[in-house]
Amino acid sequence: MNPVAAGGKYAADWGRNGLAAHLARHEPPGCRCAVMLQPLSSSIDMTQLAGFEPAALPAEDEALRPDVRAFLTHHLAGLSAEARARSWSGYDPAFSRALGARGWLGITLPPEYGGGGRSAYARYVLVEEFLCAGAPVGSHWIADRQSGPLILKYGTEEQRRFHLPRICRGESFFCIGMSEPGSGSDLASIRTRARRNDAGWVLNGRKIWTTNAHHSHFMIALVRTSGEPTDRHVGLSQLIIDLSRPGVTVRPITDLTGDRHFCEVFFDDVQLGPEALIGAEGQGWAQVTAELAYERSGPERIYSSMVLFDEWLAWIRTPAGQSPGATRLAGRIASHLAPLRAMSIAVTARLAAGESPVVEAALVKDLGTTLEQQIPALIADDLASRDDPSQVPAELLATLAYVTRVSPSFSLRGGTREILRGMIARGLGLR
Ligand SMILES: Cc1cc2nc3c(=O)[nH]c(=O)nc-3n(C[C@H](O)[C@H](O)[C@H](O)COP(=O)(O)OP(=O)(O)OC[C@H]3O[C@@H](n4cnc5c(N)ncnc54)[C@H](O)[C@@H]3O)c2cc1C
Repeated sequence: MNPVAAGGKYAADWGRNGLAAHLARHEPPGCRCAVMLQPLSSSIDMTQLAGFEPAALPAEDEALRPDVRAFLTHHLAGLSAEARARSWSGYDPAFSRALGARGWLGITLPPEYGGGGRSAYARYVLVEEFLCAGAPVGSHWIADRQSGPLILKYGTEEQRRFHLPRICRGESFFCIGMSEPGSGSDLASIRTRARRNDAGWVLNGRKIWTTNAHHSHFMIALVRTSGEPTDRHVGLSQLIIDLSRPGVTVRPITDLTGDRHFCEVFFDDVQLGPEALIGAEGQGWAQVTAELAYERSGPERIYSSMVLFDEWLAWIRTPAGQSPGATRLAGRIASHLAPLRAMSIAVTARLAAGESPVVEAALVKDLGTTLEQQIPALIADDLASRDDPSQVPAELLATLAYVTRVSPSFSLRGGTREILRGMIARGLGLR
């Protein structure tokens, strides 16, 4: 598959800006953006990856867009671009409940559990609209993206009936308890341990970088239930931890931008019932690996800088902001976004078919986060090259400042770039 050709058919309806990918063809040789944007187009031959069969979003799912856009226009009115740039880090439980009331949470879950019974494509359309508009989806994000599907796949009937309807109504928020101090990339070395007792499980240990733990009702954690850290993948299990239990302490961490969205979480003799175990005891590693395909493949690995891009596009359309160099840069960025989006949809098609495309998801995340990180740098270059920087709107500058500060985290969260590249190399038989 030629990704540029495949992406071209999507470029025509790219975003709300009507950008045409053909602008990219007019890039002058030696332009910095061509150098920075090179990896996607030239460093990997996608034709070698059978996992990226082109897939289109079905018409019935595309049909969701007008309603979602109208809803977002109403609910996001008055929110600054800087606030919207937070999007899947933005916490707004009332907004989540409003989405739940519209049936837009848990849209892939079966109706008997309160879900929409729709395909992964329907969720793709929703998420794409939410992220491009900069909707504050952080509160329900993890529950909707991965905890719900994980509970559906591995949970008991009792767990499904308890958790899934609450997730679909936007009432129950989840966080991911994988990383620990000293165990991030090397996840199999985790030390948090749950021991069986008569009442269920007693949990001791500590998690770190847990996004939204301070706002979440439950954590799905990877813990050791037997053996030692040196046993690596053997003896790990997943638990659903009720964060309101005695012995749980959640301490938010302030990040580089001044936001407090991730946390340290301490477990001191936390008593959990037997129903806390999800899936099979000792199968935690396999379950986590499958979960990570959901975590890594979605549009959020492409669109983290989209509100900034939109804000900048709006300015370069004004008399004060227009310039031939900016137009060329816009085309270059759009022409890289389009094939990335096609690849991301191709991974969604694999998920919709019940597969677990771990390597393809890792590839989309690596390429997607690379572009997400380049966008603020390229826009900063453009603004710095202007003769009169005082013409640049304050809101555009504030949004750029936020995205620039947060962008290093794009290639850390959900697995670092180096780890993903190791997985991709293994998947291609190169190591
Ligand atoms: C914004 C944000 C949100 C997060 N949210 C969550 C969350 O909700 N839940 C959760 O569990 N975790 C979360 N994390 C943690 C994240 O998953 C880890 O930061 C990540 O897996 C890296 O682990 P580490 O920080 O321990 O770094 P380390 O693993 O110590 O890595 C440090 C550096 O060494 C490199 N490195 C490590 N091993 C290798 C290797 N074998 N080969 C080559 N290079 C290597 C890494 O790529 C990295 O550059 C979040 C992180 C961020 C930034």
